[in-house]
Amino acid sequence: MKALSKSQAQVGIWMTDQPVPTPGPNDLLIRVRKSSICGTDVHIYNWDAWASQTIPVPMVVGHEYMGVVEDMGSEVRGFSVGDRVSGEGHITCGHCRNCRAGRRHLCRNTLGVGVNRPGSFAEYLVIPAFNAFKIPDDIPDDVAAIFDPFGNAVHTALSFDLVGEDVLITGAGPIGIMAAAVARHVGARNVVITDVNDYRLDLARNMGATRAVNVAREDLWTVAQTELGMTEGFDVGLEMSGNGAAFNQMIKTMNHGGKIALLGIPSAGVSIDWNDVIFKGLIIKGIYGREMFETWYKMAALVQSGLDLTPIITHHYGIRDFQQGFDAMLSGQSGKVILNWEQ
Ligand code: NAD
Ligand code: ZN
Repeated sequence: MKALSKSQAQVGIWMTDQPVPTPGPNDLLIRVRKSSICGTDVHIYNWDAWASQTIPVPMVVGHEYMGVVEDMGSEVRGFSVGDRVSGEGHITCGHCRNCRAGRRHLCRNTLGVGVNRPGSFAEYLVIPAFNAFKIPDDIPDDVAAIFDPFGNAVHTALSFDLVGEDVLITGAGPIGIMAAAVARHVGARNVVITDVNDYRLDLARNMGATRAVNVAREDLWTVAQTELGMTEGFDVGLEMSGNGAAFNQMIKTMNHGGKIALLGIPSAGVSIDWNDVIFKGLIIKGIYGREMFETWYKMAALVQSGLDLTPIITHHYGIRDFQQGFDAMLSGQSGKVILNWEQ
């Protein structure tokens, strides 16, 4: 089969021929239809410090996908050949305390599809059936293909009650924009999103942000006061940039008792004014992955109740043009980029 592999320890990704993987007794063999490019895949493409320490070479990468069940192991129940599925990319151990308590997203022994084991930039993918999620018929393939990052947005956004609240999202990457759409859909009052990239701020406006603020040009708190009539500060903060300045700006503009969910991954240590955290009584929660599988059911329900994710999908390429897909991601002038494996 064809598969995109990190086959050399340098910048780039390469189309290779690989054997079709064989499912074990508890696994599904999935024929991949669509796989989207994640920021993580861009780190792997760029072969930055994190990637070169984490990714064994060669490795077929990719972990955001949807496809069709082609075959399954003898012990699998609940799936049929032909089912449309997406999959949870965190493979958990099943025997640690958190796994046994049903808190799989907190497993200490998590392995990543397309990071620690072969991924979805391939014609076929094997995952444990436990990790697969059946896609309801009324959810289109494109939307199913971005359930993994949508799940990051949903997990983060729904960490705290948003109804009637003033929400600040720092970072209008694809995940921040989807979080803005979720916050609006579930009844937040103001949904303010920040970035330094106008293309992405425009996308965020189209997907439901009340106000998209370019913090390179505008002062966030002045905008909140003068245009939105806010006097006290944000109730809920969703940090989705990984940028230390953005996180500091969030801490400064939170109301007392504000709640912050942190998804963005900083590339280096970030210092903050802990006095603000203490004297404002802020609550800060780290977010990793998606809750298995509550986040997945909530994602399906959000889409089925009218949340439109299609504007975030800005580029499609056939798999032969994968390089153009990576170039679109690298340009910063993109939302989600989908590679079509079936042409
Ligand atoms: P992305 O890199 O596409 O988006 C980040 C955005 O932050 C960019 O648009 C960038 O311009 C913006 N930004 C930079 N400086 C800023 C500033 N000062 N103020 C406001 N915005 C600023 O990333 P993404 O794919 O949308 O993912 C969001 C973040 O979540 C990334 O840090 C990613 O690594 C992280 N992530 C975490 C998990 C997890 O499980 N914790 C999972 C997926 C992604
Ligand atoms: Zn575990």
